[in-house]
Amino acid sequence: MKAIVNPDICIGCTLCVQSCPGVFRMEGDKAVAYLDPVSKELEACSRQAADECPVTAIAIQ
Ligand code: SF4
Repeated sequence: MKAIVNPDICIGCTLCVQSCPGVFRMEGDKAVAYLDPVSKELEACSRQAADECPVTAIAIQ
């Protein structure tokens, strides 16, 4: 599984970093998914982060 943050949409709220720090981190004022591919045990929190993103900037593939 792969998580991708669209930097053109991300508003830098840090919510995904708080809910899934093993996958997402801030780089400047945008979040990035730095764990690629997402490990099995972090798939659930990655999906949760995608669901919770207020601007739907996270794609799960
Ligand atoms: S939750 Fe969405 S808007 Fe907020 S930092 Fe993460 S990707 Fe960006």
